[in-house]
Amino acid sequence: MYFNEQSIVYLNGEFKNVTECSVNLYSQSLHYGNAVFEGIKAYQTAQGVNIFKGKEHFDRLVYSCNKLSLNLKQTSNELLNATYSLLEKNRYTNAYIRPLVYTGADMSLKSSDEVNVFICAWEWGPYLGERLLNVTISPFQRPNPRSSFVDAKIAGHYINSILAVNEAKQRGFDEALLLDMNGNVAEGPGANVFVEKDGKLYTPLKGNILPGITRATVIELAQNRGIQVIEKHISVSELKTADSAFFTGTAAEVVGINTLDDYKFPLAWSESLGKKLYDDYSLLVRNKFNLSKKAV
Ligand code: PMP
Repeated sequence: MYFNEQSIVYLNGEFKNVTECSVNLYSQSLHYGNAVFEGIKAYQTAQGVNIFKGKEHFDRLVYSCNKLSLNLKQTSNELLNATYSLLEKNRYTNAYIRPLVYTGADMSLKSSDEVNVFICAWEWGPYLGERLLNVTISPFQRPNPRSSFVDAKIAGHYINSILAVNEAKQRGFDEALLLDMNGNVAEGPGANVFVEKDGKLYTPLKGNILPGITRATVIELAQNRGIQVIEKHISVSELKTADSAFFTGTAAEVVGINTLDDYKFPLAWSESLGKKLYDDYSLLVRNKFNLSKKAV
């Protein structure tokens, strides 16, 4: 699914056939989760392939490396240009892109001096139809911001996401929603959350979440429509009296939430602000939307 024998990947400044690449089993990243990554999408547009918010994603990769004292040699612009070449070499247009920065063989608990950067991509078609999610509040909390840099995209953080998804699926739900250490709404395992109430949107403040690039884009799209977006602490009871809710993320884009445990959001998705922003976002990523104008 992710690659075949012809797939080209980027590794430390070179383009290679994936079958020529290997990873050291003594890599500190494998043992301790000391690695950082990104999830990016490229879309076919009338002007050619567009790596959506590519600079923002690679800037966040560099930021995440700095937080872990991983000495990345490449700049975000170099990595973005390399990614355009990677897509061209693989002839990908609509693709998911996964950069990963990982360390060398090192069993110590200080970040290894050996830093490797790997970028791969695979084809990713548009979602067919719209899906709405049945979500449950996870018994797992998001990591305390005093335990790590929660705004960095650190591989080790994703154990928390995996535990939450496993647990939610075991109970028959599509997705989990995690609270922060104070019991306020934080985010999904791989997406931010927005709530609609009386024509306004609410989303958790930065601080206890990974502040998504899609979250920032959706806030901009909402403001462009004159929709008020309020960043605040959101309690579970506020969420369970809301009109509608949705997740945002690079992979998920904008996806509506049908139910939260036993609560069904009363506003039909087709009537919600989330649906309008879903439509705007779909146009924006394909360069069919000018933020200074209305959707075409
Ligand atoms: N929160 C978490 C925990 C995530 O993993 C992601 C996906 N990167 C997001 C939010 C959404 O971030 P973005 O919109 O930048 O993809």
